[in-house]
Amino acid sequence: MNILTQDIKYLKGVGPKRAKLLADELKVHTLQDLLYTFPYKYIDRSEILHIRDLQENMPYVQIKGQIISFALEGVGRKRRLTAIFTDGTGYVDIVWFAGLKYIQNTYKTGVTYLLLGKPTIFNQRFSFSHPEIDKAEDNASVQRKMGFQPIYSIPEKMRKAGFTSRAMTQLMYNAFETLGVRQASTALPDEQQLNYGVLERHETLPQYIISKYLLRPLHETLIAAHFPRNAEDLPSAIHRLKFEELFYLQLDILRYMKNRRLKSHGLPFRHVGTNFMQFYNEHLPFELTGAQKRVIKEIRHDTFSGTQMNRLLQGDVGSGKTMVALMSCLIALDNDFQACIMAPTEILAEQHLATLRQQLGDMPVRVELLTGIVKGKKRREVLSGIADGSIQILVGTHALIEPTVKFHNLGLVVIDEQHRFGVKQRAMLWQKNVKPPHILVMTATPIPRTLAMTVYGDLDVSVIDELPPGRKPVKTIHYYQDARQKLYDGIRYQLQLGRQAYIVYPLIQESEKIDLQNLEEGYEDICSYFPEYSVGKVHGKMPPAEKDEQMQAFIRKETQILVSTTVIEVGVNVPNASVMAIWDAQRFGLAQLHQLRGRVGRGAEQSYCILVTKPELSEDTRRRIQIMTESNDGFEIAEEDLKLRGPGDLEGTQQSGMPFDLKVANIVKDSALMQQARTAAENVLELDPDETLPQNRILWKQLSLLKDDSKNYSAIS
Ligand code: ADP
Ligand code: MG
Repeated sequence: MNILTQDIKYLKGVGPKRAKLLADELKVHTLQDLLYTFPYKYIDRSEILHIRDLQENMPYVQIKGQIISFALEGVGRKRRLTAIFTDGTGYVDIVWFAGLKYIQNTYKTGVTYLLLGKPTIFNQRFSFSHPEIDKAEDNASVQRKMGFQPIYSIPEKMRKAGFTSRAMTQLMYNAFETLGVRQASTALPDEQQLNYGVLERHETLPQYIISKYLLRPLHETLIAAHFPRNAEDLPSAIHRLKFEELFYLQLDILRYMKNRRLKSHGLPFRHVGTNFMQFYNEHLPFELTGAQKRVIKEIRHDTFSGTQMNRLLQGDVGSGKTMVALMSCLIALDNDFQACIMAPTEILAEQHLATLRQQLGDMPVRVELLTGIVKGKKRREVLSGIADGSIQILVGTHALIEPTVKFHNLGLVVIDEQHRFGVKQRAMLWQKNVKPPHILVMTATPIPRTLAMTVYGDLDVSVIDELPPGRKPVKTIHYYQDARQKLYDGIRYQLQLGRQAYIVYPLIQESEKIDLQNLEEGYEDICSYFPEYSVGKVHGKMPPAEKDEQMQAFIRKETQILVSTTVIEVGVNVPNASVMAIWDAQRFGLAQLHQLRGRVGRGAEQSYCILVTKPELSEDTRRRIQIMTESNDGFEIAEEDLKLRGPGDLEGTQQSGMPFDLKVANIVKDSALMQQARTAAENVLELDPDETLPQNRILWKQLSLLKDDSKNYSAIS
């Protein structure tokens, strides 16, 4: 029986109630889960600040002084206990909202305490809510014992139940004790000699990898990660944990990739024929950019190679991905296969259909649309046309992957703006032919290559890093809400030049809770402000037919202003639109703002994007707005976005098929380490292709444990 898999409720200090909290809030079910719940930071308990040196936005700090008075304030649920605390250089307030009786009985005035907490400013004074308080003289031993104090991230529900970071720390002690980890007595009392107990028998990496990559053994690592003895003890422990996570992640991805390559032979595209050549020579409306040419070559190479193509095409908004899609479809047609293009919204699907038909002109290629709103007779016609092969290119939404859609001979699937599509949906596409069709995923949300490999598994990556000639970068300007007059005047000026404008709102209807400019109100406002122009309106809650009508009216220039929510975010192409105003821009993320902005700047005219915000902005928002006004480069913006939001928020990460959650490593920040882990994993697969070497047994076992675990979790939550 492996003690590490023992139910957490049997650990000293846990019990059924806490066990439930641990399981629900932190997914901790076993002793092992607990040990892998790492602190998110550590506090050097040897550092003590003076109150006069406190500043706004400081992290946890430690101060040393005395409580001079207590006061009970408020009634009922607002009841709280406050205290004034001083160290001789200034005063701070302490506030408690719960456990008041215990606090009053425990802490006394006139005793010297060490206080640990995060200072916030309240009524122009620093205040600490529920800080940790120890008697100062006790601290010497505390300090020697841990030096650095771990701080665990504790979810709200646990904190409310009095389950603090400190309680967590105590559980960690208990856990290590249970495992027989002890300090062995040595001659010098300060020299910590640890006895690792049974932990030593639970290594999760083969010895040869530990030695080769100079990693610390697991038992040392785990203890150091929770209770580093000093500042030097920590980095090597974190390094080992990160390496291990990334290594197993890469091992899983690479193994999956290898198996897929072995198993799947791609549909053979053998030549470029009349469809492609005729289009290229007679119908191409412009010279392809160098980047477009290169990507088409890469796609040709993939589809001719005999294996299945699985390619991610990254290209900034407006870089001309649609043309690459169309020409790839023509190669499929030349080889007697059908092709389909899948878009995330009805509007975009219809727009693709219109673009394709227009660009193909009189070429004998049958292109049809299939979305949720294609119904009745038309739908039956389309379905049978797909089944008998008379429809050669099918454009649509996710309606394309429904089981009722049966292709005659599907050879290529293009997925546009992939961040709306998960790996599962992609996998469904594979089943649309006996052999899986070639897949081209197109996105305007660029991510670094190592990240792409990780998040999207095994896609090869192509990049269009060049915009069609003659594009003027969109000028982006920041206005506050009260500049409405100026904003409308600017828009009117553009309309007078014959251009069109988008005005984007984050919400459809006013919500009581969040005070936002809403679309309906804005629409009224704009109609009365621009009586001489026609104003259209689209939002996601409209019946699709109406939405479509509104879009088409704007495309046909029957309306000059389009008021909308973010439904126009993706792909919509109206080159005559030269202004976009985005209300409450603070509500949008960088990637989304960049996508939205990409709707203008598609013609030869100078275009403008006006970000309208409320006056009070957080630091993050200010930074976002600043990046937008300074940069038009999708890659740069994506990188900043990752920095600001972290990869956890990367759209689609949840459904991206990560085999297990990363607890320590960060796929963006640790990309160098990821590369190393990838090499290590590659070596394993190369030297042990049949997975039979005894020294690697531990690897396969650990990998399946990791994946098993994450399955259990998703089943529970
Ligand atoms: P995205 O990559 O955002 O999907 P689109 O494919 O919608 O971009 O292309 C944006 C606009 O640029 C379209 O109007 C398209 O016709 C035009 N375009 C694409 N490639 C070229 C090119 N090589 N030269 C000139 N215009 C181009
Ligand atoms: Mg597009």
